[in-house]
Amino acid sequence: MFNRQEFISDSEWEQFRKCSENLPTPNVVVNLRTIKYNYVHLKDSFPYAHIYYAVKSNPGTPVLKLLDSLGSNFDIASRYELDDVLSLGISPDRVSYGNTIKKPADIQYFYEKGVRMFATDSKEDLKNIAKLAPGSRVYVRILVESSPTADWPLSRKFGCHPDMAYDLLVLARDLGLTPYGISFHVGSQQRDIGQWNDAIAKTKYLFTALEEEEGIKLTMINMGGGFPAHYIQPTNELKEYAHEITRYLEEDFGEDIPMIVFEPGRSLVADAGILTSEVVLISRKNNTALDRWVYLDAGKFNGLIETLDEAIKYPIITDKDGGKEGSVIIAGPTCDSMDIMYENDKYKLPLELKQGDKLYWLTTGAYTSTYASIKFNGFPPIKTYYMDENGIVE
Ligand SMILES: *Cc1c(COP(=O)(O)O)cnc(C)c1O
Repeated sequence: MFNRQEFISDSEWEQFRKCSENLPTPNVVVNLRTIKYNYVHLKDSFPYAHIYYAVKSNPGTPVLKLLDSLGSNFDIASRYELDDVLSLGISPDRVSYGNTIKKPADIQYFYEKGVRMFATDSKEDLKNIAKLAPGSRVYVRILVESSPTADWPLSRKFGCHPDMAYDLLVLARDLGLTPYGISFHVGSQQRDIGQWNDAIAKTKYLFTALEEEEGIKLTMINMGGGFPAHYIQPTNELKEYAHEITRYLEEDFGEDIPMIVFEPGRSLVADAGILTSEVVLISRKNNTALDRWVYLDAGKFNGLIETLDEAIKYPIITDKDGGKEGSVIIAGPTCDSMDIMYENDKYKLPLELKQGDKLYWLTTGAYTSTYASIKFNGFPPIKTYYMDENGIVE
């Protein structure tokens, strides 16, 4: 159904097959070389940007170590992620606390560990930061319209209206904090580059108003994530994003471009992963049914939660591709009827496909390995392996 070569080169595929052949399924194998390539490519595309890797997208230790060695900073959302990152010897001044939803005790914990950069979007949280992380740099996340062009929207729950962001930054100053900048996230896997234009325009308005009316000079724009990975639905190449976003910045800020931060997750790690699942059962619901149900040992609860509402459409390949195909409903192994990955979007799989065959889900390096339940129906979280040019990394 899919042309594998559009997503992964022959040599990478062969290396993956060699490394993964004997691993028990289901599993995800993450190729560290792809992450390195993506990181370097992002830095080349935006030479002026500071990268804060969104740890939640794939918190595997080999990934964190690699990105550390490449000079990345880290965007962190919980004390557990913080512990993981600091335990690798990464300095807390390379960490931002990007979650706007936090307990006072967690603010204190981050402060005690040495973190001095905090996101916020509410008065309550800002006051807690002033009290428990005195003098820190704060940036305020603004709401951006939810757009149907983001395959995995992150709007609504986070951010506040720009008018409120203005008030919060004034209050931050009055409470002895450093009003540092503005952040936004245009939605993950954002296919419409124009979304950055609107958000940058709002940001520019806040920079100007705060300076003119309050004498507050902001320093930083944190543009979050949103850059694409290669799923079925096509997107522009990263260099198009870079070209356009840089142009928006120059149009709004001229020579005086603030410090730019990105928090990429998906675009760095998704393309690096391949999830292997085994066919547990194939059946039809009546003798003349056209669709086959294909049940796998991986599903919504152990790695494939981003198929919720069929939002992320992964390319799937099998060892029997090339022959006749028929449409299928693809479902996971648990006793929950929401554990169906694709039903409305008609995937086609080979008619020859049998119990015990494997399905390879490409582009599964982001939001799979830990975005899973622990023991629903007794199924463990999906096992993740990391490989480099020498094979599987222990
Ligand atoms: C999840 C998240 C990101 C990563 O977004 P991607 O679209 O995966 O790059 C960045 N910033 C924040 C605040 C996030 O919550």
